[in-house]
Amino acid sequence: MHRNTFINSPMLLNADFSMRERPEIYFAGQMTGVEGYMESAASGIIAGTAAARKLLGLEPVQLPRDTMLGALSAYISDPFNDGKFQPMGANMGILPDIGVRIKDKKEKYGVYAKRAVESLQRELDRIGKDNS
Ligand SMILES: Cc1cc2nc3c(=O)[nH]c(=O)nc-3n(C[C@H](O)[C@H](O)[C@H](O)COP(=O)(O)OP(=O)(O)OC[C@H]3O[C@@H](n4cnc5c(N)ncnc54)[C@H](O)[C@@H]3O)c2cc1C
Repeated sequence: MHRNTFINSPMLLNADFSMRERPEIYFAGQMTGVEGYMESAASGIIAGTAAARKLLGLEPVQLPRDTMLGALSAYISDPFNDGKFQPMGANMGILPDIGVRIKDKKEKYGVYAKRAVESLQRELDRIGKDNS
């Protein structure tokens, strides 16, 4: 067993990993309650991108809740998780339900993945238009 030290992100952080009370300060990595190599690196990319966009006066990217990183950043920043907050890695269980029952896991997760790609594309299109 290894120790994992983390802050109470649901009460402290926004979904872009900035502090609620001091939004010019960003956290990233495992200390925020994300768990794993990919998740920790991704949180740094989200925080860094958010900080850079803020400095450039660009609208923030809002990662859709049905993408894996959108779901993870929503998880760490959701005040509902206060008191029961535990580190979380990427997993299909944190994604919103697709609302239809698909028995075959490969097929089911394919639907989740397609939904995520489409949501992300919509957000990138929106941001792209905003930046032009
Ligand atoms: C034994 C073990 C096995 C694991 N296996 C996996 C795995 O197979 N797959 C996976 O995805 N994840 C795995 N993890 C989890 C993964 O290692 C972490 O989630 C990830 O490395 C966290 O990255 P991080 O950059 O947030 O923190 P860290 O990798 O812990 O980096 C933090 C850095 O900050 C430095 N630091 C700390 N305090 C200070 C200070 N005051 N001043 C300056 N520097 C400081 C530390 O020395 C360290 O280099 C494992 C973890 C452990 C312990």
